[in-house]
Amino acid sequence: MTQRLYYLDSYLRSFEASVVERAEEGRRIYLDRTAFYPTSGGQLYNTGQLDGIEVAEVVDEGERVAHFLVEPLVSGPTVLGELNWPRRLDHMQQHTGQHLLSAVLADLWNYTTTSVHLGELTSTLDLDTPQLSSEQIAQAEERANQIIAENRPVTVTFADATTAAGLRKPSSRSGTIRIVAIESLDRSACGGTHVTATGAIGAVLVRKLERVRKGVRLEFLCGIRAVRRSRMESAVLSNLAAELSSSVDELPRVVANQRADVKALSASKRELEAELSRYRAQELYASAQPDPAGIRRATVRLPGGELNELRGLAQAFADLPRAVFIGSIETPPSVLLSAAPDSGVDAANVLKRTVSLAGGRGGGSSTMAQGVLPGRAQLEQVLSVLEGAK
Ligand SMILES: [Zn+2]
Repeated sequence: MTQRLYYLDSYLRSFEASVVERAEEGRRIYLDRTAFYPTSGGQLYNTGQLDGIEVAEVVDEGERVAHFLVEPLVSGPTVLGELNWPRRLDHMQQHTGQHLLSAVLADLWNYTTTSVHLGELTSTLDLDTPQLSSEQIAQAEERANQIIAENRPVTVTFADATTAAGLRKPSSRSGTIRIVAIESLDRSACGGTHVTATGAIGAVLVRKLERVRKGVRLEFLCGIRAVRRSRMESAVLSNLAAELSSSVDELPRVVANQRADVKALSASKRELEAELSRYRAQELYASAQPDPAGIRRATVRLPGGELNELRGLAQAFADLPRAVFIGSIETPPSVLLSAAPDSGVDAANVLKRTVSLAGGRGGGSSTMAQGVLPGRAQLEQVLSVLEGAK
């Protein structure tokens, strides 16, 4: 059974231990005692070195802790273990910060933390409430940071599971449990590594709220991570502000104005396009010779693009007396037919029939219809029929 030194001293960065077993040609090492935390209880493993060899992963095997090394350990029987301290301290900040945030949320509104994930980049906790307002998030974040500023002691004690009192959440374990307490706020059964006073958490920053199946999920960052993230977001905001010749504080107003401008410009663009279509339609109409039945036809072919680009013109042309408009795109092969109500041509009927004879499919209304064809040859076939359609 491996003695877990981190249970009693989470600030132990280096230690001496005896090798009790070497497996996988010396790459999987078991020690009599260790300060390396193995992945468990939602907290990630530590990295570092054993006699100068990199520890790539640490796994909890129940009784024992396995250290996976990047190359075989040949020294011993006594080895020197050294933790990658920035990584370990970061994990301690996230974990104690999570206890603090969960305790504050329970304290303020009785919300229960149902699950926790402490990740490499961000951490999350799930709450058993259907919603959490942004005011509540701000309030909980502020309360947590006040308690950080108060630098309350965080202590570790051991008690029997049956007699342990005042736990935020009942423990499912039996026998001796480890209790991590934040003074006058929280007592939680936990095997993780923690800072010894709330001040060492540094800061708590809640970033995102997301709805999950049975409640909400809060994403949060603590300590240096929170500062780095804020720095990054601050840089994004500064760049955006510079891009818009504004200040960060003015951004919401400037962006709202720009959105309104874009909306107005889009509306005026649509109007101008409709007007242009009317002029083009009149031009095509004037140059089209009426057939013996008095119908004027115009055909517009585009090498590529979308039929939608022709719809405005098709509509404007079919608004003119006894007019029939045929539009086509060569790639992908597609065709559009519009017809004035007084032309005697039912666009949907004519197009559907012609297109399906050529192996394509299409449909629409009596004044506007469109279809797609399997290839260029079929498109040509359809166009020659439509151009002569009565
Ligand atoms: Zn914990």
